[in-house]
Amino acid sequence: MSRVYNFSAGPSMLPEPVLKRAAAEMVDYQGSGQSVMEMSHRSPVYDAIIKDAQRLLREVMGIPGNYQVLFLQGGASSQFAAVPMNLMTKSRKADYVLSGQFSTKAFQEGSRYGDCKAVASSKDDNFSHIPVLDEKEFRPDADYFHICMNNTIYGTVWKELPHTGNVPLVADISSCILSRPIDISKFGLVYAGAQKNVAPAGLTIVIVREDLIGEPQEGTPTMFNYGVMAKNDSMYNTPPCWSIYICKLVLEWIQNDMGGLEAMEARNVKKAQVLYDFLDGSRLFKGCAEKDSRSIMNVTFVTGDKELDGEFVKEAAAAGFVNLKGHRSVGGMRASIYNAMPPEGIDALVAFMAKFEQENG
Ligand SMILES: *Cc1c(COP(=O)(O)O)cnc(C)c1O
Repeated sequence: MSRVYNFSAGPSMLPEPVLKRAAAEMVDYQGSGQSVMEMSHRSPVYDAIIKDAQRLLREVMGIPGNYQVLFLQGGASSQFAAVPMNLMTKSRKADYVLSGQFSTKAFQEGSRYGDCKAVASSKDDNFSHIPVLDEKEFRPDADYFHICMNNTIYGTVWKELPHTGNVPLVADISSCILSRPIDISKFGLVYAGAQKNVAPAGLTIVIVREDLIGEPQEGTPTMFNYGVMAKNDSMYNTPPCWSIYICKLVLEWIQNDMGGLEAMEARNVKKAQVLYDFLDGSRLFKGCAEKDSRSIMNVTFVTGDKELDGEFVKEAAAAGFVNLKGHRSVGGMRASIYNAMPPEGIDALVAFMAKFEQENG
């Protein structure tokens, strides 16, 4: 068996021990005589899986007791609508910071459900940094304030959270969930698609402060109603059973093999540093994100020559470093180095880049 180093932005690498465990349990899950893919979601054996996954997520992330953990479907993109439907119910106003493509989509979708204001944007700089904020632009009567914490496409991350006073902070954490400790008590709600750092596609995680769950906007589909989902322990209908099971295995891997989120962060920071140090010293490659906004999960870079970028991506793939092509809106390259990318993968990539630079620089 030979596995490549997969730098995909999502779906992305899963930890190899998790894949092996899933393979070993594939046909007969713990003596049940069934695969997790086949069992009733109402069966006691599956009930233990979803409850374990929720409990482990609470433990690993240190989620306070007054927050609900919801296991939903529809991806982070569905939350672009579900958040305003459930939270934009008082003043029907919400403030958004535009730090990339996903936050812009969230803002556009939110605008269909109420009065959304873009209070800051870094679009003019092709989102190469987190926007500069002017708190005078914030509306104190907004129902929430929305940010995208880690900007997957541009490789930028918020290092300091905005000060929103009593306005609940809402964050899309799709590409940084479980990469480091996050103080959930600073947020009203966070949400994430699982396919970057948690599990295969299909599961969407919402962590929401209980007092924010109320009567949603009129016409909200039952499936989008946080109250209904919370009351039914995320089992109003069939949940994404398999993805939740892998989520449980990934959380066990983080807790038992990696030593929790603080250790995970130290490992991720070190991995990213190796790549950024190389980029900063390179004559050929150049990082795209401004230094004070650099993400430890997605690293964007270019050679400055589109043809050479293409050649690099091609040669890298042939050498076993796949999915390095950057998003079409940035071009160049992007190395997504989520939790499951081992440090050896970064070292090998940097060695390959050094060789490429020598041959083409
Ligand atoms: C991938 C991603 C999305 C889109 O997620 P889907 O689950 O495909 O809807 C949204 N926001 C961020 C930050 C992402 O990385």
